[in-house]
Amino acid sequence: MNNINILWFKKDLRIEDNQALYESLKDNDILPIYIFELEVWNQKTHSRRQWEFCKESVLDLRNALSEKGQPLIIRTGNVIKIFEEISSKFEIKGIFSHQETGDWLTYKRDQKVKYWALNKKIIWKEYLQFSVFRGNFNRDNWSKKWKKNFDRELIKEPIKINPIDFDIGEIPEEKIFFFKKDECPGRLKGGRKKGLERMEYFFNKKLNSYSKDISSPEKSFDSCSRLSPYISWGCISLKEILYKANLYPNNNSRMLKSRLTWHCHFIQKLESEPELEFQEFHPYFKNIKTKNTELLFLWSQGNTGFPFIDACMRSLNFNGWINFRMRAMLMSFASYNLWLPWQDSGSELANKFLDYEPGIHWNQCQMQSGTTSINTNRIYNPIKQGKDHDPKGEFIKKWVPELKYLAENFIHEPWLLSKFNFKEYEKLDYIKPIVDIPKTTREAREKILEITKKNGYWDISKKIYLKHGSRKRTAINRRPKKSNYKTKKETQYELNLGI
Ligand SMILES: Cc1cc2nc3c(=O)[nH]c(=O)nc-3n(C[C@H](O)[C@H](O)[C@H](O)COP(=O)(O)OP(=O)(O)OC[C@H]3O[C@@H](n4cnc5c(N)ncnc54)[C@H](O)[C@@H]3O)c2cc1C
Repeated sequence: MNNINILWFKKDLRIEDNQALYESLKDNDILPIYIFELEVWNQKTHSRRQWEFCKESVLDLRNALSEKGQPLIIRTGNVIKIFEEISSKFEIKGIFSHQETGDWLTYKRDQKVKYWALNKKIIWKEYLQFSVFRGNFNRDNWSKKWKKNFDRELIKEPIKINPIDFDIGEIPEEKIFFFKKDECPGRLKGGRKKGLERMEYFFNKKLNSYSKDISSPEKSFDSCSRLSPYISWGCISLKEILYKANLYPNNNSRMLKSRLTWHCHFIQKLESEPELEFQEFHPYFKNIKTKNTELLFLWSQGNTGFPFIDACMRSLNFNGWINFRMRAMLMSFASYNLWLPWQDSGSELANKFLDYEPGIHWNQCQMQSGTTSINTNRIYNPIKQGKDHDPKGEFIKKWVPELKYLAENFIHEPWLLSKFNFKEYEKLDYIKPIVDIPKTTREAREKILEITKKNGYWDISKKIYLKHGSRKRTAINRRPKKSNYKTKKETQYELNLGI
């Protein structure tokens, strides 16, 4: 039997700046493989739009590898069974991959693969794709560790890959997955080529307006980098984007770079505590919400009766992307005003996002739902957000055609029309508000406050902070004048809580 190394592509669908590929080629021929796992794709966080994006990226990767001599091998099913199939034909000398920073299921799968490889005496070498570290990781000096990991040259693509004799397989048919009907006509197309085009466009044409337009749902659609799905699927490496950003030394590229550190900062939390995908950071927030499939459905369809919320949701449904502020507002509305469990609304959002990245996503969902206890809680007022970021209601009119002819002064609060012209208001073919914003906001605030008064709340919160909290220098420097707190960490902890 021939010796080979398996090069297992996961969410690193590129041949450039790919350390696992580089290392795998050092001593043996390689079998480059991507595996579609039904169990992974049938989770409710996954969707047809992501599958289409992934499929395009996998095909692009197959072409890139073919040009080097050996096309990508594609299989569908259970990873261990597929590795067994390979081991009946080849002597597997090693498995090479990037360390996956994924969800609970892939984390558990990796443990099984590790055990299998150990039994077979096969070495599995995993390389860091991001600055995210396995195990019980100490956050002190995290930013130094982050920088050190990216302080290296870009890794070049291989010149040649020897062909091997093995059926290359095909992309599975869509019908084997349980996807909901999901058209997403406005989404970005997958693959490295498309990602690079987007990156060039952003740096050449949009970088200058990045910070100015980042919060506007309409303008950010063009002016944000929109690189997130390409980062999530690994079509472009984080290092490549950092490298590019360094060529433009200005405030906008610095802002982008700080977001790239957040990327890893958030993923690190889930990596250190994978249960955060299901469990609240702070246990006192467990089971406080009420499941409600009807409200969840209305929110998810963009039919809440709040024009700005509905416009954002419908735009997200169509495009598979919306900017940070609008994501936060949608989540806040579901969590506070509709009082829905973050796990339910979070899953709905995850499968709408082309860039679903579990580490960022579940942390953000919990942050915007007030369950971390270490971040300042923010309840967004969707009417104010609309007035601030879409003052003329143009974005609303684009996505909520029911309000197309409504006068500008009623566009954010159509119900006000009823006071002036009840007949006209009744004629509007638009759903009436499904909740009372001031009342639900007040109630949510009171309920959260009550929880923070419970015995032991702050002691637990402190532990959470020490494990997951940001060690940002600026926060440490902003010491309060009358500080009772003994250590730097404690001072910063209190500052983060705003007390
Ligand atoms: C409830 C909620 C859920 C989210 N879920 C995801 C998700 O599943 N996947 C995802 O990539 N981002 C998520 N974000 C973070 C953020 O909204 C997106 O990263 C960003 O909007 C992507 O657009 P962009 O690539 O144009 O970002 P840019 O502003 O151009 O930033 C460049 C990159 O930096 C990273 N980044 C930017 N903002 C953040 C942030 N706040 N936290 C962590 N990393 C950041 C992303 O990798 C992004 O691609 C979520 C935010 C919220 C509030």
